[in-house]
Amino acid sequence: MRPPLRLHLNENTGGCSPAVLAAIRGLDPLEASLYPDYTAVTAACERWLGAPPGWVQLTNGLDEGLHVVAQAARPGRAVVVEPAFEMYEICATAAGLGVTRELWDPRAAFPLDAMLDAVAGGASLVYLTDPNNPTGLPIPEGAIAAIAAAAPRALVLVDEAYAEFSGRTCIGAMLDRHRNLVVGRTFAKAHGLAALRAGALVSHPDTLAPLRRILPPFALNICAARALLAAVEDRAHLDRYVAQSASSRALLYAFAERRGFRYWRSEGNFVLIEIGPRAAALVAGLAARGILIRDKSASPACAGCVRITAGIVRHTEACIAAMEAVLST
Ligand SMILES: *Cc1c(COP(=O)(O)O)cnc(C)c1O
Repeated sequence: MRPPLRLHLNENTGGCSPAVLAAIRGLDPLEASLYPDYTAVTAACERWLGAPPGWVQLTNGLDEGLHVVAQAARPGRAVVVEPAFEMYEICATAAGLGVTRELWDPRAAFPLDAMLDAVAGGASLVYLTDPNNPTGLPIPEGAIAAIAAAAPRALVLVDEAYAEFSGRTCIGAMLDRHRNLVVGRTFAKAHGLAALRAGALVSHPDTLAPLRRILPPFALNICAARALLAAVEDRAHLDRYVAQSASSRALLYAFAERRGFRYWRSEGNFVLIEIGPRAAALVAGLAARGILIRDKSASPACAGCVRITAGIVRHTEACIAAMEAVLST
C-alpha cells in the first residue's frame, strides 16, 4: 500500500530543496568525525532572518528552543494562549513552572486584556504564536509589544514557526526595543527540514547568553547544519512552496464556502475548518482513503474542527476530492 498523504502536521509534503540532499551527500569523513563549526551556517541564518550578528542561536528544531526558554525563565508561572501548540505546556511543566491558560476563541478578538492581567500577576514566561496554530490567526498589531512591556521580568517567546507564510516577524525594531522578547523560528515547515531538526532563537545577545548556557554546545548535527545552509540559499524553492500554500488555502476556503462550513483565513500553511458533528467521521473516512488530517475537536474552542495542511496544490486537490466523497456518503 502507498504511504498515507500526511496533511495533519503542517509538513512540507513537497520535500526539501534538492540542494539540501546534495549538501548532505557532499560531507567528507572528517566532517562527520569532528565536532561541527556553526560559524558559516549561523551567519547565513542571521542574514536570512534579518538579524544582526550574534542575535541568532541555532537549535535542534524549535522544540528544543521552546524547552530552553522555559528552563531559563525565573521560577513562577508560564502564560499560554489556548488553543495552541501542545509543546508550550509540556516545556513549562518540565521546567517546574505553573501554567496559566488564556482562551483565544477564534470567533472572538485576541484576549489582550486577559493576557495583560495574567502577566501583571508576575508571570515568568509567556508563549505566543504568531500566526497561531491551529487557527492561523495573526496576533493583532501592538499586542505583542503591550505584553512584553507589561512583563519586563518575563521572557516572552514569540513562536514564528509560520513566518515565511505570514510575511510578518518581530525581528527588527520590535526585538531591539523589547529585550525580554525572544523569537522562535523553525526550518521544519516552510523549508521542509522537519526530519533534519533545525530551528533558531533570535534575541538580543544579552538575552540569549543565559539560554546559550543551557543549550548543549553541539545542538545541530552536521547533516542538519549543512542542510540548513543549503536550504536558506535556495530562495526559489521556498518561494515556490509559499506560493503553492497560498493557492491551497484559497482552494480550502472555496471548499468550506461551498459546503457552508465556518473556516478561518490562515496566515500559515494550514486551514482550520469547523465541520461540526461529522468531524471525526470525516477524519476517519479520509484515513481510510490514505489521507491524514488533524482532528482538533479536543482543543479548547475547536469542537468539530479539523486542521488541514495547505501546501502542495495537487495534495490539497486530492484531499478536497476525498472530503467531498466522504461527505457525500
Ligand atoms: C511545528 C511547530 C514547531 C516545531 O518546530 P520544530 O523545529 O519541528 O521543532 C514549533 N512551533 C509551532 C507553532 C509549530 O507549529
